[in-house]
Amino acid sequence: MIASLDTTPSDDLGVPAAQRRSAELERQIRERPGRFRALTGDRPTGRLHLGHYFGTLHNRVRLQNLGVDMMVLVADYQVLTDRDVADRLAERVEDLVLDYLAIGIDPRRATIFTHSAIPALNQLLLPFLSLVSVAELSRNPTVKDEITHSRQSAVSGLMFTYPVHQAADILFCKAGLVPVGQDQLPHLEVARTVARRFNKRYGAASEPVFPEPEALLSAAPLLLGTDGAKMSKSRGNAITLAATADETARLIRGAKTDAERHITYDPADRPEVSSLVLLAALCLGRDPHEVAEEIGGRGAAVLKSVVTDAVNGYFAPIRARRAELTRDRTHIRRVLRDGNERAAAVADATLGEVRAAMNGVYY
Ligand code: ATP
Ligand code: MG
Repeated sequence: MIASLDTTPSDDLGVPAAQRRSAELERQIRERPGRFRALTGDRPTGRLHLGHYFGTLHNRVRLQNLGVDMMVLVADYQVLTDRDVADRLAERVEDLVLDYLAIGIDPRRATIFTHSAIPALNQLLLPFLSLVSVAELSRNPTVKDEITHSRQSAVSGLMFTYPVHQAADILFCKAGLVPVGQDQLPHLEVARTVARRFNKRYGAASEPVFPEPEALLSAAPLLLGTDGAKMSKSRGNAITLAATADETARLIRGAKTDAERHITYDPADRPEVSSLVLLAALCLGRDPHEVAEEIGGRGAAVLKSVVTDAVNGYFAPIRARRAELTRDRTHIRRVLRDGNERAAAVADATLGEVRAAMNGVYY
């Protein structure tokens, strides 16, 4: 189990424990995939990148294909957590859906939807806010990090309450699995706390209203960007899924490495080099230690050319499919309309249950 928010969060955000738990969950999913519902999402703040792909997107497609019920949220209201205005929102939402479809999310099996179209989901935020303290919100390490990188001079209430909104995203559909990158572990801990406290305060012990959702980490829970910090849409250090082969080559050529010539896979002591090695290994379906050993004393330039070829080879079919899908924008809008309808029905049912549990149905 991940450490609870009630304890002081450790520096590693509970990553090793979450990784062990993910391995156990994978075993249970393989046994009975139909028992699980998963939710994840992305803010429409720019195009999806390789960090998203290997951190969470690949897992979503894999889970969907195994038979897990997959909910994919375009978190449009959360764009405003760290900026005043949601720029080019419609275009960015479409871009996100294009990325989803290109990587293999299948709208006949998965539900793709947007926050702003699901009123009942957002209404859950109010009772949920009453279940967490201001002190708990202020010590959330992901919120602290996002505040550091925020484009705003003052921290808005939306930024501060963002993890509770995310709890509503996960709990409205009673998702038990959340395939995310490691930066999301503290947020997930808030969702677990909200579920637990709601059940304790309002539920019958025999029949909890909400399951406690669990993170499902991938083999690359924190891919680094070209500057050596977490690859991130908003930080100008990302290689997008939709990038051309030439752009990819240029970005990887400029990626930060270190002064040691001999290439090794050592994430703790050589994070930048190791993240590049891991990226090549994931694209090639190989072990990162082996990839590093093969490059050995040939240095960073060879490493970068291996990574570039691996990325361009792996993403060529995805990029081609994306270009093909771009031609039919009406299809994208239809996917969202259908997904929104399905998600709204789920949210209405959960809000009904929540109000009944809170004795809030009186007319
Ligand atoms: P922004 O900079 O706008 O916050 P982001 O790149 O951090 O964008 P999000 O939309 O916040 O992307 O995150 C979407 C999902 O992708 C989350 O599950 C997050 O954990 C995962 N993710 C994002 N960046 C990485 C990364 N570098 N490595 C692994 N997973 C990642
Ligand atoms: Mg982010």
